[in-house]
Amino acid sequence: MNEFHFSCIECGATFPLSENIYSCPKCGDLLQIEVPIGELKDAVDFKILRRLPLSVWRYAPLLPIIDHSKIITLHEGGTGLHHCRRLGSLLGLEHLYVKNEGENPTGSFKDRGMTVGITRALEVGARSVICASTGNTAASLAAYSAKAGLETVVLIPSGKIAYGKLAQAIVYGARIVQIKGNFDEALKIVFEVCSRNREIYLLNSVNPFRIEGQKTLAYEVCDQLNRQPDYFIIPVGNAGNISAAWKGFTEYYNLGQIEAKPKMVGVQAEGAAPIAEAVAKKRLTIEPVKKPETIATAIRIGMPVSWKKALRAIYESEGTALTVSDEEILDAQSILARLEGLFVEPASAAPIAALKKLKEADYLSRDDVVVCVATGHGLKDPDIVTRLYEKPVELEADVSSIERFLGLAKREVAVEFPKTAC
Ligand SMILES: *Cc1c(COP(=O)(O)O)cnc(C)c1O
Ligand SMILES: [Zn+2]
Repeated sequence: MNEFHFSCIECGATFPLSENIYSCPKCGDLLQIEVPIGELKDAVDFKILRRLPLSVWRYAPLLPIIDHSKIITLHEGGTGLHHCRRLGSLLGLEHLYVKNEGENPTGSFKDRGMTVGITRALEVGARSVICASTGNTAASLAAYSAKAGLETVVLIPSGKIAYGKLAQAIVYGARIVQIKGNFDEALKIVFEVCSRNREIYLLNSVNPFRIEGQKTLAYEVCDQLNRQPDYFIIPVGNAGNISAAWKGFTEYYNLGQIEAKPKMVGVQAEGAAPIAEAVAKKRLTIEPVKKPETIATAIRIGMPVSWKKALRAIYESEGTALTVSDEEILDAQSILARLEGLFVEPASAAPIAALKKLKEADYLSRDDVVVCVATGHGLKDPDIVTRLYEKPVELEADVSSIERFLGLAKREVAVEFPKTAC
């Protein structure tokens, strides 16, 4: 087919985009959207495309949206790719970059998928949208849905969502349901509700339109570097984002825009690592983790819905997957903030934590171009910091006690505070 269409990742059946489906009607497995590479190669002038501002919609011709006048956008994408020289020299990596997805409108990469997903929801005539979420999907969905004038419902695991994310979903006006279960259970319910009630549109990352928006992460990184990375290191929860990035790199390669594809490295928390465990055992299937546990709530997922896509990304790219402990995650969060001025949420620090292990194992070498994805902003989860870090000192409100605290020498003449405002 020489136009955008669905294909099943298992049985290969294809379906036109005019069908409103979330999974393969034949075998039930995940769908992906096939991009007409040959047509686009002829039709798209990438020189002209790259003159547009860096953003998700710079890549509009590579996205499956028909009516561009309906696009719901809050200016997502175009996030910084930061060359981390101080952290890099500590680790012995000269070309270490962090793609800071916390710079997106609601503070996480989820916005890339949501701008496309909500636009699709309008195209299919939905009036309400729903998702299960560990937090960021809910925050993002609620924002885009508000902009589109749709009703939003989000299911979150009771008590296991970071405060900042909950505050966002509340203020954007979503109907929020806490369920007495974990994320995996919430997702199962949402899927069931959407299969029975076609008027509610599902916006978890099983929805391939979200993956389409998220794949622009890979295009952007290549455009910012003017080449492909050698290694692309990314936290893995429900496994949509690693699948999306791999799709993006593969398409850019097939379109002749990069010379090679990076190795994909998935990072999971020790207590929620079904993908890393499968890769360690060179397996083609995963064993779900029944009670996932980690401080990094965004990747506290035991049954990643896109596991099959993620394993393919890792194996096809000849990459790897590994785990990091909660302690390593928190250390990495602090180091990234102190050396590079980047405050990321715990899940986003997982790739930074992985760097040390990968370098020590000689998996990475000094000259490699390494990109770590910082998936979400640190202010999403300020509790972690205020709970675990030392509280600031409290002193009397006078100059001498501050000077004593700072270890400054006593001065002979007191300097008077200027009386006139300048
Ligand atoms: C959603 C999310 C992840 C996990 O992404 P998946 O696509 O579910 O693998 C990681 N970090 C943050 C901050 C997230 O919001
Ligand atoms: Zn199928």
